[in-house]
Amino acid sequence: MKILVMNCGSSSLKYQLIDMENESVLAKGLCERIGIDGSLLTHTPAGGEKYKVEAAMPSHKEAIELVMQALVDPSHGVIKSTDEISAIGHRVVHGGTYYNESVLVNEDVKKAIADCFDLAPLHNPANLMGIEACEAAMPGKPNVAVFDTAFGMSMPEKAYLYALPYEYYEKYKVRRYGFHGTSHNFVAGEVIRKGGLDPKSAKVVVCHLGNGASVSASIGGKCVDTSMGLTPLEGLIMGTRSGDIDPAIIQFICEHEKLTVEEMTDVLNKKSGVLGLSNGISSDFRDIDDAANGGNHLAKVALEAYTLRVAKYIGAYVAAMNGVDAIAFTAGVGENDKFMRKNICAYLGYLGVKIDDERNNVRGEERLISTDDSKVQVYLLPTNEELAIARDTLKLTK
Ligand code: AMP
Repeated sequence: MKILVMNCGSSSLKYQLIDMENESVLAKGLCERIGIDGSLLTHTPAGGEKYKVEAAMPSHKEAIELVMQALVDPSHGVIKSTDEISAIGHRVVHGGTYYNESVLVNEDVKKAIADCFDLAPLHNPANLMGIEACEAAMPGKPNVAVFDTAFGMSMPEKAYLYALPYEYYEKYKVRRYGFHGTSHNFVAGEVIRKGGLDPKSAKVVVCHLGNGASVSASIGGKCVDTSMGLTPLEGLIMGTRSGDIDPAIIQFICEHEKLTVEEMTDVLNKKSGVLGLSNGISSDFRDIDDAANGGNHLAKVALEAYTLRVAKYIGAYVAAMNGVDAIAFTAGVGENDKFMRKNICAYLGYLGVKIDDERNNVRGEERLISTDDSKVQVYLLPTNEELAIARDTLKLTK
C-alpha cells in the first residue's frame, strides 16, 4: 500500500509518498507560494535529483493536481498511476475536544475541523482546504485526518483546565490542548519499544525542541501533561515565541507601548523567544550558538534561559508522574545540538541522569545517550511525523 501524506499550510503544501510495505519514502516535495505569484513545486524522488516546476497555483486544488502529475511523470515520477495511492493522510492542527485519535474523513469530520477555525486560524482552514482539494483531485480515495491535538486529549482535568472562571471552559472550551502531538506520540512509542519499557506503565518525558518547542509527559504512551496550551504559545521559550510569562505583562506593555492586544500577541508569537531575548540576533539556534561562542552576552543568556526552562518542565513532569523511566530529545535543536542536550541533562543529576559524552556526540540519529548506569534512559530519537501519519492512515483504511 502506498500512502500520500499531506501537510498543508496557508500558502504551502508539503507531501511524502510512503510505501507501507517497508515504510520507505518514495518521493517528497513542497509547493510554495500557493495563491501568490511565483508558485513553485519542488519534487524529489527517493535517490533522485530535485525537480522544480514553476506553474500557477491559484489554490491548493491546482497544487495537488501538480503533485499528482509529478508523482506519475515518466521521468521523475515514482508511480505509474495515482490508482497506486491507497489513501491520503492529512496533518490537521486542531481537533478541539472532538477527536482523541485519528479519523477517517467524512462530512462530520470536515465540519468539526471548520468548527475549530477560531482555535487555529492559521492552520485549520488550510488543512481543510487540503482535504477538499484531495477529494476533488482523487475522488473516492479515503482521506484520514491526524490531529496535532489528539495526543493531549488523554490529559486529566487537573492538567488541562486553567484556573480561570469555569464558564470559559464551558462556553469556549478554553483548556490546554497541547500541540506537536503526532511527534510526542511517535517518539514516546519508539522510546518504550527501544528501551524495552512496560507499554502500560512506562513514564516518559519527550522534549520536542524545534523552532516551536514543547515537552510532554506520558504514562504507558498516554499523555498526562504537555507544555503547549490553548495555543502553541505557552510553555518553553522557542525561536520567536515567549512561552510562559506573567499574563499581567500583556496589559503593562500594551499601556506603555500603546499596543493593541492583537499587536502584543504578535510580539509574543513572532518577536520574542530567543530572538527577543538575544535582542534580535536570530531565532535560529545555530546563529545564537555562534554569537554566544563569539562572546555575545545576551546570546549566552538566551541559551541559558532556554536550557533552564526545559529543565524546569522536565522536573515538573517527573514530579507530576512521580518518576520517570526515559527522557527523549527530538526535532531540530533536540536532534542536532549535543551541547543543549548535555546542558539540560546537567540539571537532572538529582534524578540519577548521566549522559555519556561519546554517545551524545551524534546528530539526527536514534541513539541511547545516557550511560549504562544512568537511572533514567536518555535518548536522541528523531521524530517522523509523516511516518506516524502514514501509519495511522494505514490502520484506518486497511
Ligand atoms: P525544526 O522546527 O524541528 O525544523 O527545528 C528548527 C530549529 O532547529 C532551528 O532553530 C535550527 O536552528 C535548529 N537547528 C538545526 N540544526 C541545528 C544545529 N546543528 N545546532 C543547533 N540548532 C540546530
